[in-house]
Amino acid sequence: MTSKTTYDCNKCPGYCCSYPLIEVSRADIARLAKHFELDYETAEERFTLYDKEEKVRGLRKHKDESFGSVCRFFDRKERRCTVYAARPEACRGYPYSKSCGYYQFLQFERKLQDDKTFVAMTR
Ligand code: SF4
Ligand code: SF4
Repeated sequence: MTSKTTYDCNKCPGYCCSYPLIEVSRADIARLAKHFELDYETAEERFTLYDKEEKVRGLRKHKDESFGSVCRFFDRKERRCTVYAARPEACRGYPYSKSCGYYQFLQFERKLQDDKTFVAMTR
C-alpha cells in the first residue's frame, strides 16, 4: 500500500482477478507474447478466449478454491499475479481510484469475523 491508496493487494485474496471476463487488447496479447517469448498467435491461443456474448477477447481462467475460477496467471497459493510486469491494461488501471471497494468489503468482513485471514465471498 502506498500513501496514496487505502488498499493493500498483498493482503487481499485477489477479487479483481476473479472477474468473469478480463478483457485484453491486441497490445496486451503482444506484451504477454513478448514476456513469454512466444509469437502473437501462440500467446493469443494459449492465454485468451473469445467471449461470443460480449464480443471481446479475455484472459483464460483456471479453477480456484475461493472464487470458483480466477485468471490463469493468478498464483492460487500465493494469491498474486505471476505476470505483473506484463499484465494487461485492465489490470494496471484497476481499481481506478485511491480506494478499492473489494478491499473495504474484505476489511469490514474480517473485522466482523475477528479473523485477519477470512476470505469473504461476494456471491
Ligand atoms: S480486489 Fe482490490 S485490493 Fe484486492 S487485489 Fe484487486 S485491486 Fe488489490
Ligand atoms: S493478469 Fe495478473 S493482475 Fe491481471 S487478472 Fe491475471 S492475475 Fe490478475
